[in-house]
Amino acid sequence: MMSTRLIIILQLIVSSLLAQSNDEGMIRKIYDEALARGQSYEMLEHLCTKIGARLSGSPGAAAAVEWSRQVMQAYGFDSVWLQPVMVPHWVRGNKEIGRVVNSKKAGSMEMSVAALGGSVGTGPGGVLANLVEVKSWDELKTLGEKGVKGKIVFFNRPMDPKLLQMFASYGGAVDQRANGASEAAKYGAVGVIVRSMSANLEDYPHTGSLRYAPNIPKIPALAISTRHAELLSGLLSDDKDLRFYMEMNCQTLPDAPSFNVIGELRGTKYPKEIIVVGGHLDSWDLGQGAHDDGAGCVQSIEVLRIFKAMGYKPQRTIRAVMFMNEENGLRGGIEYANQAKLKNELHIAAMESDRGGFTPRGYTLPADARAKEKIRSWKPLLEPYGLHDFSQEGGGADISPLAPQGVPLMGYLPDSQRYFSFHHTPADNFDTVDKRELELGAASMAALIYLIDQYGLK
Ligand SMILES: [Zn+2]
Repeated sequence: MMSTRLIIILQLIVSSLLAQSNDEGMIRKIYDEALARGQSYEMLEHLCTKIGARLSGSPGAAAAVEWSRQVMQAYGFDSVWLQPVMVPHWVRGNKEIGRVVNSKKAGSMEMSVAALGGSVGTGPGGVLANLVEVKSWDELKTLGEKGVKGKIVFFNRPMDPKLLQMFASYGGAVDQRANGASEAAKYGAVGVIVRSMSANLEDYPHTGSLRYAPNIPKIPALAISTRHAELLSGLLSDDKDLRFYMEMNCQTLPDAPSFNVIGELRGTKYPKEIIVVGGHLDSWDLGQGAHDDGAGCVQSIEVLRIFKAMGYKPQRTIRAVMFMNEENGLRGGIEYANQAKLKNELHIAAMESDRGGFTPRGYTLPADARAKEKIRSWKPLLEPYGLHDFSQEGGGADISPLAPQGVPLMGYLPDSQRYFSFHHTPADNFDTVDKRELELGAASMAALIYLIDQYGLK
């Protein structure tokens, strides 16, 4: 006779095998829906080509808010609403001028430049000054006031091409863009030029936000294309007296009203437990914000649409959140977390897609050991879909303000090799996104959200 204990063990094994095959079937259905009847690509086409750039406070951002509200309503999500938030309102103004003046070798020459987001303008007379190139903070420090005062500092440290993860490569160079202006201004610089954040040689500049430190004069900052950064460096090494002219009339206007856009499928069993999947609706102003982060927004909507189309009724409440103002303020992410706290909401997980619409590789995982272990235990279900990288930690900028509430934060992790060819540029357009890659991403997000909905992360 079998012992009761053995029977219980056998029952457990059978039920876990049944659950596994059910999960396999559900994940297969998710991919079938995304790949055969997916709508993320059509959504992205509209967002990029009919609305376009969506810098916070711009008419494009307002149009995108209204559009995403209407789309989620049309899909029949249980509720869709706007969450008000005040956002910074920076405007670029006229096309910037960055010009080499009277170089011995090249004469006068226009360079491919763009103001960094948040930069002050130069005033109508522009800034004309000698240039000094640095590749490290130590070099800047060594030059000191004597070498920097009255000059334009040219930060020209490239992204490290040896790193395989391009986000790590970006992380190693972006301090120049973020802090270069204030660091140079400490020594009396009158402007800065920053090599664009790309490992490739390109003709267009990459914008992105800078941070002015308090109590330091604000000086104008331009990004320069990587190709022209190389050229400028060469001209400067032949001609130390080379002068550079910059003219920008960008400015920061008063904060503007805007919104996060939220759509929700209410949980059938644990409605108070909330799972967030999101991206940011705002973009830089130079391109259409296709990879950054139109892709993440339409994928997040698509996760909920897939569940609805499959007739899957989530146990927990699942929210698609289009955050506003990730690029130059993070106000939407901060406000979302504030409201969650005020309303005493329980978020059991948050996932962001903000690494472009590229081929799936895996996920970035929560720092919490238990949650991490649980997600890794699902790897056999996800690996057949090319999801094999479960090695990195982290969520995304917009969900990061939820961290103090103990919410496990994770990210969708696509291939990173080409992301920084488009990031914050005039080339971040719909035609650079591959339909199938975008759809695979949406399905990959839905698959993990499904498992979290079924089993939680505790
Ligand atoms: Zn982004």
